[in-house]
Amino acid sequence: MKYAQFKEHEIRRTCTKQFDTPQKYRPYLQKDFQGRCCYCNMPEDLVTVPYHVEHFIPEKAFKGIRDELKTDYNNLMWSCPKCNLSKGEKYQGNIHDDSKIANEYFYNPVEMDYNRIFYRNELGGIDSDDQKGREMIKLLKLYRPVHNLAWLLERMERLCAQLEERQKTEKNLGKRQLLESAAGKVARECVKKEKLFRAVYRGKRIFKNSIF
Ligand SMILES: [Zn+2]
Repeated sequence: MKYAQFKEHEIRRTCTKQFDTPQKYRPYLQKDFQGRCCYCNMPEDLVTVPYHVEHFIPEKAFKGIRDELKTDYNNLMWSCPKCNLSKGEKYQGNIHDDSKIANEYFYNPVEMDYNRIFYRNELGGIDSDDQKGREMIKLLKLYRPVHNLAWLLERMERLCAQLEERQKTEKNLGKRQLLESAAGKVARECVKKEKLFRAVYRGKRIFKNSIF
């Protein structure tokens, strides 16, 4: 069941430069993709490991046929390491059709608004009512609890910021103290959840009592 929309930003390609290696596009990708993984939407400041320059049509598919795709900005995506590794060399389509950059296994995250395909369910997990969307969830392993946790953390951080804002403008002392106390509690919970998130993302064994 849909609980919230999948993401709240748009991806727009603005780089018009041509570089000879994919890595030189890193700052442009980071900016155009707003520092978020184009597949799972996780923000890189939360993940705290460098994001990857990902080829939408993978190198194995285009090598020797459309070598220009290695440094074609339209074939480059900003991806978290987990999604990049899960996507790997998966490709389906007609590589000889050079009129478009397509990979039939996946919706192109720049051309397709993922809010039309994916949504957040009541547990914060990534879900879809679309058949290809569901396949993508399997292929990219978007069902992992780390995605629920990232979504929850972002909401908690937002709540904390809202409480702090309210506190600044609240004139009633009693209410101000309550807001301060609530913001403090949420902030401490955020720190704990962030630690848990990083451990889960890096695949570490989690503490005995954790459900993750
Ligand atoms: Zn990702």
